[in-house]
Amino acid sequence: MNKPKIVVLGAGYAGLTATRKLAQKLSPEEAEIVLINKHNYHYEATWLHEVAAGTINHNQARYMISDVVNPKRVRLIYDTVVEVKTEDQRVVLENSEVEYDYLVFALGFVTNTFGIKGMEDNAFFIQDIDSARIIREHIEYKFAQYSSGESTDESDLTVLVGGGGFTGIEFVGELAEKIPELCKKYDIPRNKARIINVEAAPSILPVFEEDLVAYAKKSLEDRGVEFRIGAAISECTEEGFIVGEDNELIKAGTSVWTGGVMGSPVLGKSGFEVFRGKVNVDADLRLPGSENIFIIGDCSWTMDKETGKPYPPTGQLATQEGAHVAANIKNALYGLPLTDFVFDNKGTVASLGISDGIGNILNGVKLQGKPAAAMKKVVDDRTLLVVGGPKALLKKGKYRPF
Ligand code: FAD
Ligand code: NAD
Repeated sequence: MNKPKIVVLGAGYAGLTATRKLAQKLSPEEAEIVLINKHNYHYEATWLHEVAAGTINHNQARYMISDVVNPKRVRLIYDTVVEVKTEDQRVVLENSEVEYDYLVFALGFVTNTFGIKGMEDNAFFIQDIDSARIIREHIEYKFAQYSSGESTDESDLTVLVGGGGFTGIEFVGELAEKIPELCKKYDIPRNKARIINVEAAPSILPVFEEDLVAYAKKSLEDRGVEFRIGAAISECTEEGFIVGEDNELIKAGTSVWTGGVMGSPVLGKSGFEVFRGKVNVDADLRLPGSENIFIIGDCSWTMDKETGKPYPPTGQLATQEGAHVAANIKNALYGLPLTDFVFDNKGTVASLGISDGIGNILNGVKLQGKPAAAMKKVVDDRTLLVVGGPKALLKKGKYRPF
């Protein structure tokens, strides 16, 4: 009898965790496992704001997949997924095709511009290692141009960040560390370089309670971040964002859009029904109506039965779903019932630069300042351990001093 073939798409938090757990749970005789990913490395998507600001090197935020997955046990294919042909259980890649018996769809997020005019063409996105790296290089290039006299436009020294959710705020926190360094390096007075965050809603970081939000805002303002709150961005031009009801142009050398994310466009291309950018999955994480397709991480909405709302898409959720899928696939192989996924929320922490942050952790405990920043590093290191194993932690662990 042919062995069942399990194909995992994406080696992010969800896909890599699913693959490693499957390889632990199933012997080579029980199932063939294939992992397909665009690159030969896994990256810490939760560290991309640091890569984009240049407060860490991009190499710290990635590790080789073959270092944490045994290529003798799991067939590794480095290629881009184009489409899933569900009717004949086939995945179309840019350079080949792969058939599956069980499919784990974990291709993660892309930036959502909501069709805002000029955003795709003129703004930078914090989406993967390459897109984050380009932001760091672009900011520095603008500073170098100004310093050499090639540019005399002071707005070239402005970094404009659209969206005051987690990504936007964590990014300006890192910029508050990096911009003073760049000013020193290029002999530019600090007051000439600006960091501006634009948020449409009445508050930044609405997930947190008011006191923590107020703390975050003040801490960032004290370090030179300017806020434009309650100001919606309606367009992005080569010069900057057009903002608010009077269509004010805020000029900047670097405009970064962090206004939201959605699941991989491969979902739609494959004919899956997409709601607000993702697929609603059943409680066992399967595509509704399908026996053998699981959609996890940032590609799906998983319902929290207590609140009746989907769990917010995070790395923490993606990792837990990856582990759950592995257990459910093993059950399916042996004809056992699949179990429902329940999220074990360990809390939320947002960094505000290297030594500051805010957070809500277990039992309603609130954190701010250095304890929150320390907790964020613990979370980052724990993720390395849980997703990649001890080797990933030893190689890439964060031991940055405060
Ligand atoms: P991803 O991490 O997006 O991984 C998807 C993988 O699929 C990648 O390896 C990608 O290269 C690959 N891939 C994509 N498309 C293709 C294709 N067509 N073909 C082949 N391969 C492909 N969450 C938290 O819990 N805590 C945090 O502190 C936190 N911080 C964040 C900071 C930033 C700056 C951002 C942007 C997000 C943050 N998040 C955080 C959210 C978290 O990063 C996502 O929820 C998480 O990455 C989702 O994991 P995933 O495995 O579904 O997808
Ligand atoms: P988000 O959707 O959470 O935030 C986007 C922000 O942009 C919102 O505040 C929104 O009001 C604003 N916005 C949207 N359109 C706008 C416009 N036209 N003009 C001005 N502002 C506009 O997106 P995100 O911050 O990228 O986060 C994505 C996901 O990743 C979330 O689920 C988040 O929980 C997760 N994440 C978590 C962490 C963490 O836990 N530390 C860090 C980063 C991201």
